[in-house]
Amino acid sequence: MGKVLIIGAGGVGNVVVKKCAALPEVFTDIMLASRTLSKVEKIAQEVGGDRVKTAKVDADNVDELVKLINSYKPDLVINVALPYQDLPIMDACLETGVHYLDTANYEPKEEAKFEYKWQWAYQDRFKQKGLMALLGCGFDPGATQAFTAHAAKHHFDEIHYLDIIDCNAGSHGKAFATNFNPEINIREITQNGKYWENGQWVEIPPMSIHKPIDYPNIGPKESYLLFHEELESLVKNFPTIKRARFWMTFGQEYITHLQVLQNVGMTSIQPIKFQGMDIVPLEFLKAVLPEPGELGENYTGQTSIGCQIKGIKDGKDKTYYIWNNCKHEDAYKEVGAQGVSYTTGVPAMIGAMLMLKGEWMKPGVYNVEEMNPDPFMDAMNKYGLPWHEKEGIELPHEYPA
Ligand code: NDP
Repeated sequence: MGKVLIIGAGGVGNVVVKKCAALPEVFTDIMLASRTLSKVEKIAQEVGGDRVKTAKVDADNVDELVKLINSYKPDLVINVALPYQDLPIMDACLETGVHYLDTANYEPKEEAKFEYKWQWAYQDRFKQKGLMALLGCGFDPGATQAFTAHAAKHHFDEIHYLDIIDCNAGSHGKAFATNFNPEINIREITQNGKYWENGQWVEIPPMSIHKPIDYPNIGPKESYLLFHEELESLVKNFPTIKRARFWMTFGQEYITHLQVLQNVGMTSIQPIKFQGMDIVPLEFLKAVLPEPGELGENYTGQTSIGCQIKGIKDGKDKTYYIWNNCKHEDAYKEVGAQGVSYTTGVPAMIGAMLMLKGEWMKPGVYNVEEMNPDPFMDAMNKYGLPWHEKEGIELPHEYPA
């Protein structure tokens, strides 16, 4: 049915390649390209046969990307490199006439600020070329927006309060490691928190609001209010939302390490001179931390990510919770990955599949909640991320705001 070029051979790339390779009727041809050829080749060998073609590419370089795309001629590029590469890859897709999907929104390298404005600005160009760009199709962003769209379509007349809650209750046995790219992860956590309330953004100091939230099959875990990119598109696409927040759990050991690293300047993105060279402390830190793709082997425990919603149905107040739990060990057994890479890679494969099948295909630049959630929700159940829902339960949040 379709030919895909997957860019980025990290933790998430490994999962996307293996999930696509398992569906030959949809993904007839697959190429994996990334900066480090040895990582690309390792994943291709694990899949076996000559199912996955390999290439080396610097995805910051539009000319290199254009050459690669023109020689391979994919129908769709799946970008699971880093957010810095979103715009060059979108430019290359426009130039070569190929559809685009990613899992994280663009942020400039020199400023830790993620916003959709840069990618939404491609709307007219993608429309004019008859191409589609699907943004943020991982778990969060991604599945959390499909969850919200599913709730809006099947359970509510109006959504008023949305809390996205993300727990990783796993243990990888390392003193300190991040579950996705360390540089991107630390940039996200160390910036100010932000949430939407009564038509405006409320900014708070990093990690300054937290409380225990009870997660299914896990129990209560301290959860911290962060800004997360899907909040920006969700409040735009569901204007009845009065308050939208994002919560993520962190263990005390993680926070202590992060505080020390911050205190000594290791999380800074301002270059410093070291032995005559300019180095960015956070980039150096990334180089000494474990890679997300290597954490899987001894990872135990599970993730639980979902949406807790309050709104109106048939004139009455209603509460609703939808979530998925994913065990790290199961992800490792299936594709040799930890749960965070798995929960990101599976939705990316599903989004790509729906685009290639034409079920999610329309020219322009879209976020996940703008698409029909039904085929995505069915595919989550089928391809490894079963979800659960409950109505009329007591939610731990204060209402109204
Ligand atoms: P990793 O660091 O494990 O992998 C990133 C990969 O991209 C590496 O293989 C890296 O190459 C490659 N890469 C980086 N720069 C370039 C470049 N210029 N050209 C070509 N390849 C490049 O990260 P993850 O796999 O954990 O994350 C991948 C993406 O998924 C990130 O954007 C992350 O933010 C996103 N994500 C989204 C989530 C969601 O739920 N929506 C959750 C988790 C992650 P090299 O091997 O040489 O370093």
